[in-house]
Amino acid sequence: MSGSDTACIVFGDQLDADGAFYRSLDPTRVVLLMVEAADESSREWSHPQRITVFLSAMRHFAQRMRDRGYRVEYLSLGTVETLEEGFRRLLERVRPGRLIARRPGDYRNLKLVHSLAQALSIELTVHEDDRALCSPEEFAEHARGRKALRLEYFYRMMRRRYNVLMDGKTPVGGSWNYDSENRKSFSAEGPPAVPAMPAFLPDETTRAVMREVTSTFPTAPGSIESFSWPVTGDQAEVLFDDFVEQRLPFFGDYQDAMWTGEPLLFHSALSSSLNLGLLDPLKVIARAEQAYRTGHAPLNAVEGLIRQVLGWREFVRGIYWYHMPGYLEDNALQAHEALPQLFWSGDTEMTCLSETVGDLRTRAWTHHIQRLMVTGLFALLYGVHPKAIHDWYMGMYVDSVEWVTAPNTIGMSQYADGGIIASKPYVASGKYIQRMSNYCSSCRFRPDRATGDDACPFSTLYWDFLARHEDRLAANGRMQFQIKNLRRISAQRREEISERARQLRRRLP
Ligand code: SF4
Repeated sequence: MSGSDTACIVFGDQLDADGAFYRSLDPTRVVLLMVEAADESSREWSHPQRITVFLSAMRHFAQRMRDRGYRVEYLSLGTVETLEEGFRRLLERVRPGRLIARRPGDYRNLKLVHSLAQALSIELTVHEDDRALCSPEEFAEHARGRKALRLEYFYRMMRRRYNVLMDGKTPVGGSWNYDSENRKSFSAEGPPAVPAMPAFLPDETTRAVMREVTSTFPTAPGSIESFSWPVTGDQAEVLFDDFVEQRLPFFGDYQDAMWTGEPLLFHSALSSSLNLGLLDPLKVIARAEQAYRTGHAPLNAVEGLIRQVLGWREFVRGIYWYHMPGYLEDNALQAHEALPQLFWSGDTEMTCLSETVGDLRTRAWTHHIQRLMVTGLFALLYGVHPKAIHDWYMGMYVDSVEWVTAPNTIGMSQYADGGIIASKPYVASGKYIQRMSNYCSSCRFRPDRATGDDACPFSTLYWDFLARHEDRLAANGRMQFQIKNLRRISAQRREEISERARQLRRRLP
């Protein structure tokens, strides 16, 4: 390659081979640079399926692009320790006249691209990520002059802008949001028959990755044997079709429900495909709307999915870039506890946590309410340092990319940003989990008890949390009901709860 040609950095979550960005490049003039760096999988102790999905999808992408005529310079696992070392080595080998990149999925790598270009004196162009439906500049425009950023107003703006689920100027069905119709739990008989998720049996490329991951990261937490995540665009389409046909009609009603032995229920499990770039979010939105317009799925299901993809996903992307750098350091509630060991092992008498962490160890994925109202809730009530629980989500989930995970964890789940993303901390006692699942019926603890040997740790820690943050929460209009209930509790009873919470913290390693 001559010095006048162009090199393009491709990160592991930029694999939209058929997207507009790669279609705009000339394979005869652009060389693609890709690096598998060991520390991307060891910086946070990572689930072997998370490592596998990234590396296998990258290798499939690289082959696809070679077939299309691209020269792909690729460093495989074991060659370099860091992305910086890898891209520097490739740039010195290729010696391009120009470097292009797309905005990466995290701030650290954006800085890396700039520092490499500067150090090697290469002209650099960083393109916006054209998969984003709202660019950081557009989000900043939306944020300008607002006292608080809330999903609802952003979501309405996006619905109008993309003309999604709209009848002229009004939302289809008359309401913007059917969240209140997304909270059904199951009867004692449990969920209706749950269709199995399609399994994508590992091909030779994926099997090779699995062998390398097993030998390079022998202590990685979780199982690799059951790996069956999509690693190509075609597989992601199959998963999406299956979701629309089989699970979307029930998705709306049971978004917040949980059930023992049913890790998927009616969720889409599309997040890793979307975040890697295997699936186009606009196609997902259009197909979901079509499912409503043709009568295949009800409005509360379709609106719920579209709120996630067009609303929440773009909202957290905007929040991330608007508040970085610095967002990862937020710790508004001054939480400093270490992450209990049970988050890795699932070894606990708390059924809700052992089920959720068990599901996670098996699949590197759990659905959103297990994340928010079991693992996230426990970490928040327990007082885990927000960066520690963020790192855990980053390492353990097959779909984690920093722009998605940081706002969901630091902001939504842990309230560590002090209310940038959520108007109040999402806290509840064990009674919430009892209402939304069958976990408590096989647990040795009782969700209605906050003290005593059979007290539910969630319930103890819930009242302890309210008491520890009473002054701050009393100033929040949306917490008045909970604070009023706290203030009904006698001083002696409060002390008993606080002592029980101290015991819990001493006992959990
Ligand atoms: Fe979880 Fe408490 Fe219910 Fe046990 S009783 S499953 S710890 S919420």
